[in-house]
Amino acid sequence: MPEGRHSDGPTEKCGVVGVSLDGRDASRPLYYALYALQHRGQESAGIVTHDGFQQHSHVEMGLVGDAFEPGDLDALNGATGIGHVRYPTAGSVNACCAQPFSVSFKSGSLGLSHNGNLVNTAELREELAANGHAFTSDGDTEVIAHELARNLLDADLIRAVKRTMNRIHGSYSLTIAHDDTVLGVRDPQGNRPLCIGELEDGYVLASESAAIDVLDGELVRDVRPGELVVLEDDGAGFESYQLVEMDNSAHCFFEHVYFARPDSRIDGSLVYDVRRELGRHLWAESGVETDVVLPVPDSGRAFASGYAKAAQDDGADVSFAEGLMKNRYVGRTFIMPTQDARERAVRLKLNPIRDVIEGKTVTVIDDSIVRGTTSTQLVELLTEAGAEAVHMRIGAPAIVAPCYMGIDMASREELIAAGRDTEAIREEIDADSLAYLSIDAIADALETTRADLCLGCVTGEYPYDIEGESTDREVIRPDGEDASGDAGVARSDD
Ligand code: 5GP
Ligand code: MG
Repeated sequence: MPEGRHSDGPTEKCGVVGVSLDGRDASRPLYYALYALQHRGQESAGIVTHDGFQQHSHVEMGLVGDAFEPGDLDALNGATGIGHVRYPTAGSVNACCAQPFSVSFKSGSLGLSHNGNLVNTAELREELAANGHAFTSDGDTEVIAHELARNLLDADLIRAVKRTMNRIHGSYSLTIAHDDTVLGVRDPQGNRPLCIGELEDGYVLASESAAIDVLDGELVRDVRPGELVVLEDDGAGFESYQLVEMDNSAHCFFEHVYFARPDSRIDGSLVYDVRRELGRHLWAESGVETDVVLPVPDSGRAFASGYAKAAQDDGADVSFAEGLMKNRYVGRTFIMPTQDARERAVRLKLNPIRDVIEGKTVTVIDDSIVRGTTSTQLVELLTEAGAEAVHMRIGAPAIVAPCYMGIDMASREELIAAGRDTEAIREEIDADSLAYLSIDAIADALETTRADLCLGCVTGEYPYDIEGESTDREVIRPDGEDASGDAGVARSDD
């Protein structure tokens, strides 16, 4: 990773939630919502609630199901609160960075859950430290908390959030508990998802709509880029403030490709449908007739079914088969520290069904190639299982550059596609053919344009100002001054 602002904090992709109810304790709904967001982070889990008098907090390392005992949930009193699951980054198991982050200060208590990554953390931390703020971690979330706490000393809540947004630069979806008021904030380019749901007796903010579903709620809509949503503390409704407005968004397409649950609806599209549609594009762009189409479970499934359906609709004589079985008890291969451990883990995790493969030509479909570990191992496994030819089709463009926006994708040196063309990658993984999806297909399936997507990892050009990297747009960087004017703080009707 090149030196720069981005490298001073851990890169995080996480899950956040916030709840405000009419009287009932928020701890159990928060806990169930975190369960639904577990795929967004397995390193730590935490909940902060407020009972109208004081804040309660429980944050632990580990999975949601292990982090809370029933007694812990009982002790989390109050009808409002926020929660967080944290994604582990390679090699750093970091108790200091577990969230929600909480602080008490002169004008009350503050809890903060953050998904995303700031790119000006170091500057802000230096400045805050010079003004007497003490930091317990090197993460960006604590910087946001201090920045907000400082602004709350001489501004009301809405203005304080606006000032904070004018100082922090990068990717952030936040749920915030200011005493018993729960807020949701999405960065001005809407890089990470955040949505609003209505429950029978309250409102919820969550990274993904699947968390609203498990609470038997209804998805109201996504939080808009640059919007602040304030949940009323009796669960009766919410207020919306469009605090920052930008011409273009920078949604992370990887949320739809890999990260989010297929049953979530993000920025207007159901993740499952998008993946099927990407599979259809993949067939249209680089379809190859083989005997069988095989998904790499679980992430390649929807792509493969869309691809096979499109092939069959075109009259191709291909069948779709679950010819690779996944051992669900093997941990996350992707984040294992050494290459050797990752290769062994792929073998443990995926086992081909010989009868489906032997003597056949196969097309294997995965969502993405990062280091190339999975695809290299798979080609070898399928060949050993008797495949006559192995064609790899990938539901995303080649990943050529790191992500600074919250997805821990490894550094440039580790990326198999960095500085290599498709033919060189094909040779490296030893497949009979290899094709990636085009960027245009991604924009098309998401019903958007390239200008509204963050494409940093597939183009090397970022929608944010990152030291040592180039940008694909005119980036409006916060100027560091307090934007204390009143513009934009009026409540917008929803
Ligand atoms: P590779 O083996 O090429 O390093 O990684 C590709 C595999 O990892 C794919 O099967 C893909 O589903 C999965 N993958 C892609 N991005 C991520 C990520 O950010 N985290 C994790 N855990 N897996 C990922
Ligand atoms: Mg996968």
